[in-house]
Amino acid sequence: MEQVRVRIGPSPTGDPHVGTAYIALFNYIFAKHHQGKFILRIEDTDQSRSKLEYEENIYKALRWTGLEWDEGPDVGGDYGPYRQSERTKIYQEHVQMLLDKGAAYKCFATKEELMEMREMSAKLGKRSAYDRRYRNMTPEEIAEKEKAGLPCTVRLKVPLTGDCVFDDGIKGRITTPWADIDDQILLKSDGFPTYHLANVVDDQLMGISHVIRGDEWISSTPKHILLYEVFGWKPPEFLHMPLLLGRDGKKLSKRKNPTSIFYYRDSGYLQEAFINFLSLMGYSMPGDKEIYPLDELIREFDPKRIGISGAFFDIQKFDWINQQYLINNIPEEKLWDRLKEWSFNDDFMQKLMPLVHTRIKTFGEFMELCEFFFINHIPYTEEGLTSGKITNDTAMYLLQTMIWRMEELEDFGRKGFEQASRDIAEYFGVNHKKIVMRLLFATLIGKPTGPPLFDSVEILGKDRTRARFLQAIEFLGGISNKKLSNLTKAWNSKELKDLVEKTTG
Ligand code: GLU
Repeated sequence: MEQVRVRIGPSPTGDPHVGTAYIALFNYIFAKHHQGKFILRIEDTDQSRSKLEYEENIYKALRWTGLEWDEGPDVGGDYGPYRQSERTKIYQEHVQMLLDKGAAYKCFATKEELMEMREMSAKLGKRSAYDRRYRNMTPEEIAEKEKAGLPCTVRLKVPLTGDCVFDDGIKGRITTPWADIDDQILLKSDGFPTYHLANVVDDQLMGISHVIRGDEWISSTPKHILLYEVFGWKPPEFLHMPLLLGRDGKKLSKRKNPTSIFYYRDSGYLQEAFINFLSLMGYSMPGDKEIYPLDELIREFDPKRIGISGAFFDIQKFDWINQQYLINNIPEEKLWDRLKEWSFNDDFMQKLMPLVHTRIKTFGEFMELCEFFFINHIPYTEEGLTSGKITNDTAMYLLQTMIWRMEELEDFGRKGFEQASRDIAEYFGVNHKKIVMRLLFATLIGKPTGPPLFDSVEILGKDRTRARFLQAIEFLGGISNKKLSNLTKAWNSKELKDLVEKTTG
């Protein structure tokens, strides 16, 4: 086999997702098994959503998993730059090559035109949305539009007939009719590439031999294969990993489960158990063995053992694996060190001091006051969550909309939390202190009072805060799909007052 070079290409547009660690893991295993290289590339072509803070969190989260990369924006390498926003010129040159070859064309469709086309193809039940109206313009027509200064994108000329056929290393042969595939935009009107163009150009220029990525990209692969063809390049091998699924059998989503790697780190899971757990998601060891160290998996790795259908992200299984590691891999004399690494360290404890300083009479009360920072299961009661004043539904609506409001404010910290809590009280027309704050104390701390809540949230962190909201909603019975859709509607217009139901008590 030629030198194996694999990569992950996370986009820094949100919290570091367990799916990124999962795909990183299989790339890492593959690279190590073949004595190859594992590369980290930051795919930040979406300028409006990418943030440096998210990029740094990707490094932090992946470092915690122990999956070190050989090349990347922060460690360098011979194929850089490894951050797509620094490669714009390369993409523009490559698009020009395709325009010169006649494999791509300029498209001047306006937003309104695109909307019309989308509506029309929805009516006709067609899969592709773009009707290719700019595909056959004469050079004179193009020159005229350019002279008039009209903005344009560049699109790929996808064949009108025939099939794209490729052999996926996991799924086998995949056949897609070209007629189902749009003339993909390669370069946006702002001069930035789309994911498809940047991804293919980079994989080629970075010498990537195997593309191991999530199933959700399989429908993009025909476009990528076509790009390799029109550039005159040999495509890499493709292996599409099964999707991570939530308990509901749908794609794992932060709406229902904690999906940030930091949540698992901060809740006290072990890095090595996390890796073992993730490996079970996609893979079955001979004899259905469930506990195995990473080096054993690397040694024995066989892509035929990767599953085809989705993999359930089962927290109970994770708990079990974590306990096996605690018992069998961490000797008693090392346990305290690991606990210190987790939370019982100066860094973390110092953060709590301002909260407890004037609130404890004896040290013995420290844990009483701060227990909620260290536990994963808040002891919920219905009476506590509703304070006997609102119904379960109302409590769940308040919690759900707190999550949405903090998302809108893009702030899960102290300020966003305080603002959201006040806004929610106002939208629902309920008392901030007696209804909203009591509910939030019960949800996050498990008691009607405690240290200052806003400061506590800042320390607890976004991921554990969000998880507690979800846990409390689940404890109260969960919001049915019908009620959720009503709530969403009411939320969009911020007409929420009618949803408040007080108990008679
Ligand atoms: N930027 C894509 C992502 O966020 C990369 C997909 C790929 O590996 O091709 O996952």
